Amino acid sequence: MLKIGNAIIHQVEESVQPSFVPKLLFPDSSDEALAEHLSWMAPLHYDLAQEKFRTSVRSFLVKTGRHNVLIDCCGGNHKNRPYFPRFHQREHDWLDRLAATGVAPEDIDFVMCTHLHADHVGWNTVLQDGRWKPTFPNAKYIMHRAEMDRWNPAHPQHQFYPHNEFTWEDSILPVVEAGQAVAVDDGYKLDDTLTLLPAPGHTLAHCAIHLHSHDNRAVFSGDVMHVPLQVYYPLWGTSLDDDPQLGVRSRLHLLESCAESQTLLLPTHFIPENGCFITRRGDGFAVKWNDGAD
Ligand SMILES: [Zn+2]
Repeated sequence: MLKIGNAIIHQVEESVQPSFVPKLLFPDSSDEALAEHLSWMAPLHYDLAQEKFRTSVRSFLVKTGRHNVLIDCCGGNHKNRPYFPRFHQREHDWLDRLAATGVAPEDIDFVMCTHLHADHVGWNTVLQDGRWKPTFPNAKYIMHRAEMDRWNPAHPQHQFYPHNEFTWEDSILPVVEAGQAVAVDDGYKLDDTLTLLPAPGHTLAHCAIHLHSHDNRAVFSGDVMHVPLQVYYPLWGTSLDDDPQLGVRSRLHLLESCAESQTLLLPTHFIPENGCFITRRGDGFAVKWNDGAD
């Protein structure tokens, strides 16, 4: 549990496992760069036997004092993701982990997604009597308008992407049909505490969610970075990004703003639950893990 000003943050983790082969994730990466950082990356962030980065899939629950806000929704259960074994037909105990924070699905007031990939919207819905229903019956689901348009097959801006197939139908459309989806634009603010700001590249309308309370700051950066090694090599393009060069610009902007304003960085896929701060290191940046819980 973390306290940022008046806001309380719980992490609700779905899974941690080896996931990405460095050269496939970062075509520009080198063995030398990996070797230089292996001593702190292994074994938590890097699996030596499988030669893969280890990553988490998690949600953040933010209690703003007025509302319970869930940020990003992992992969979910029973979803058909034949292209993505980590998320295909899973049975996770994520709902029990949410309950352990003292919050039931009925208590969630808002769901905010950094973007609408399969590993960020899974718990938007649950399978009930053979149909997908919103998991959080009293919540408004806040989504960026351009991100929604991109994934909506009925919209002129729609773009097919094989690695996100079925996501609209099972995790977004049921929320829209229930009247619980709210399309918003850059700068959307919730409770004077959370602000949705553009951080494009991974998807073109990907957002970072900034938390500001009593002069304390944190940022839920979604997939601007997937692994902490990117703090040291922000210029590496990512094969997972729609626009890798735009992703580089968003990453540099995020790192610079975190370093300058002492902002706690909370990426969706980094493993340490308390996140990290960013410090300057020569011309670049370094990670300082956050060891103090509250
Ligand atoms: Zn992701």
